[in-house]
Amino acid sequence: MSATSLDQIISLAKRRGFIFQSSEIYGGAAAAYDYGPLGVALKNNIKAHWWKTMTQGFDNIVGIDAAIMMHPKVWEASGHVSNFTDPLVECQQCHKRFRVDHLLGDDKYLPIKDDADAVLTAVNTKGCSGCGMKNKFTTPRQFNLMFTTNLGAVENEGSTVYLRPETAQGIYVNAQLVANAMRLKVPFGIAQIGKAFRNEVTPGNFTFRTVEFEQMEMQYFVKPGEADKTFEFWKTERSKWYASLGFDEKLLRFHEHGKGELAHYAKAAFDIEYKMPFGWKEIEGIHNRGDWDLKRHSEFSGKDLSFFDEESKEKYLPWIIETSVGADRVTLAVLSNALCEENKDGEQRLVLRLPKVLAPVQVAIFPLLSNNDDLVNKAREIATTLRGSFRVQFDESGSIGRRYRRQDEIGTPFCITVDHDSLNDQSVTVRERDSMEQKRVSIAELNSFFTDQFSETL
Ligand code: ATP
Repeated sequence: MSATSLDQIISLAKRRGFIFQSSEIYGGAAAAYDYGPLGVALKNNIKAHWWKTMTQGFDNIVGIDAAIMMHPKVWEASGHVSNFTDPLVECQQCHKRFRVDHLLGDDKYLPIKDDADAVLTAVNTKGCSGCGMKNKFTTPRQFNLMFTTNLGAVENEGSTVYLRPETAQGIYVNAQLVANAMRLKVPFGIAQIGKAFRNEVTPGNFTFRTVEFEQMEMQYFVKPGEADKTFEFWKTERSKWYASLGFDEKLLRFHEHGKGELAHYAKAAFDIEYKMPFGWKEIEGIHNRGDWDLKRHSEFSGKDLSFFDEESKEKYLPWIIETSVGADRVTLAVLSNALCEENKDGEQRLVLRLPKVLAPVQVAIFPLLSNNDDLVNKAREIATTLRGSFRVQFDESGSIGRRYRRQDEIGTPFCITVDHDSLNDQSVTVRERDSMEQKRVSIAELNSFFTDQFSETL
């Protein structure tokens, strides 16, 4: 049986060192989380897989790592200063603030979004989801999601900079430099993984919506006439990527944005949604951004960002197809997809069925008894040998059953037990996580055994 409750995920994440509430000893920082040893390993594996898929899998996609605090004009040009807003209402009873689209749901909000009176009536009728009061909301106002800070010692208007709300703009402003340096011709793509910041009005659902998060974005530059075809191509490619993460097809779906839903820059948009324990939720956006970004940056910077078409001998602005994934949301989806509660032969266990290559620990090694030096030394020796090629954990505490359960909960695909026979026959017991099957493998062959097991590329 699959574990479907968010509470189960949160509790496992804390207990086993995946994800902690940030600044917990001070009562926790709102909407911020810290990845523990296993969480950072899992997220890094997911990011590495995405990076490899994009930059190694295609010969015309390259990576960059741009600054978080960019020239403030970038955000005027991108439209974020004037458009990156959410409609907000405040309950005058309990003073909680809500995003109108979250209170009403897109299907009820979008048809009336330009009519402030209708929006107010709708939220007032619905009532406050904090205190339950009706007719207590303030008139909706637009709230900009960008965080600002000041650069330099003197705080004045000219020193204001923004923490980037998306990594994409770092790609657009560098597109020409990258294409020239790497001798890339359209079509080409630029990939980037990095932090983004949004002052979300209603963060929540654990790491699903936080104010600081990581994005994995790939912006693909095409000739305008190729945009529709390329958009379809990336929808298919991105679906394949989720299949490679072991996601059940039934838990993924595409949601096409209706006209009222489209962001200010988008010509077409698809969300890839995953069925989280709290409902269908976006984990990735695929957008046809047209030439909006390059046009605006050309206008605002005064630099010609067009490309030369060898065939028509004309200059033009490429269109951009964007694929934008939240690394934290995918990590949460991976945890949700993998966590199962099982009852096998009367024994209850919680098991994280992670794809083998994503597992933070690939092989756990146990001496049968912790007070037997020969067993401990042998197990340590094996751990040292395997450590060069695999992510290994040595564990000597508690009964073997308990050690198995701990490893099942963190998704370790294989456990090795060194027992008394091992000292004579130079073999160990290897136990597989999902089937719980055990077999003897000679110590000399362990390296090649695991190389085979982990040879699957995602
Ligand atoms: P939402 O509608 O959920 O606010 P969005 O449509 O604003 O998301 P995009 O701007 O398309 O999101 O960003 C691309 C991806 O970045 C999202 O699919 C998501 O995975 C991730 N992301 C966006 N906002 C957050 C956040 N506050 N916390 C965690 N991840 C986020």
